[in-house]
Amino acid sequence: MNFADYEDNRKLIDRLEQSVQDGRISHAYLFEGPETVDKLAFAKSFIKGVLCPPGRSPAGRGENCGRCELCDKIDHDNHEDIIYIQKDGKSVKDEAIIAMQERLKVKPLEGKNIAVICDSDQMTARAQNRLLKTLEEPLGKAMIILLSENMENLTSTILSRCVKFRINGSSEPAEGKKAANIRAKAEEIVGLCLKKAPYYQIRGKLNARKLTDDDASMLLDEMERVYRNIIIDNDKNDVPLYDLDRLYDRIYAIEETRKELRLHVSITYALQNLILKIGG
Ligand SMILES: [Zn+2]
Repeated sequence: MNFADYEDNRKLIDRLEQSVQDGRISHAYLFEGPETVDKLAFAKSFIKGVLCPPGRSPAGRGENCGRCELCDKIDHDNHEDIIYIQKDGKSVKDEAIIAMQERLKVKPLEGKNIAVICDSDQMTARAQNRLLKTLEEPLGKAMIILLSENMENLTSTILSRCVKFRINGSSEPAEGKKAANIRAKAEEIVGLCLKKAPYYQIRGKLNARKLTDDDASMLLDEMERVYRNIIIDNDKNDVPLYDLDRLYDRIYAIEETRKELRLHVSITYALQNLILKIGG
């Protein structure tokens, strides 16, 4: 992806590129960042990485050449498969989401319909409810990208359905060893939960008392990522290994825990409560 303007967010870009290269593309993304960040340009770069045919760019899949007809169309907002939903007055209204739903039913030209909801955090309650229904149904090859300045205005159920990236970088996983440790911890905890290991064993692995605020939020991000990868792999199997709704319930529980931490519930309490919900 040609995210040249976003060098500060290199880590995030690496992860996005890697997910496209691995074929781990989710149905719904949320890009959050302050007003000063051009989230739409960021989304377009990502879309180019997803749609620009592999082989056209020397770096291969997940990159975009930025020069082909397809990339050009994306730059000029006239790619037939991409729709942009804008706010009408002060909010993104129900009608706009209805129109989006209709549009997503049309067969795409390039293999994927993509809807970008600008100012998604200004959706009315009705619009959010309607969007949630779309996110809960199988989206086929469609992809929905929500752009937001403040995701706290979105319901937990919507958030739990989206892969979230914060573009300002402030909440990005820290570099190096610590991040690797937390990633490993997240994988072990999710593994134990899926195996229905006894609570005391998962709690021991969690060792919540040792976690700072940043650690806890990083751990939740990583656990969510593990579940999302399982969902994507699950989709590829003819006979799904796990019940999809149960996996989404777990992501929802993680989202609720994030909310608790933002409300300054104790880390130990919030995380132990989480593993009670998602374990077994
Ligand atoms: Zn291209």
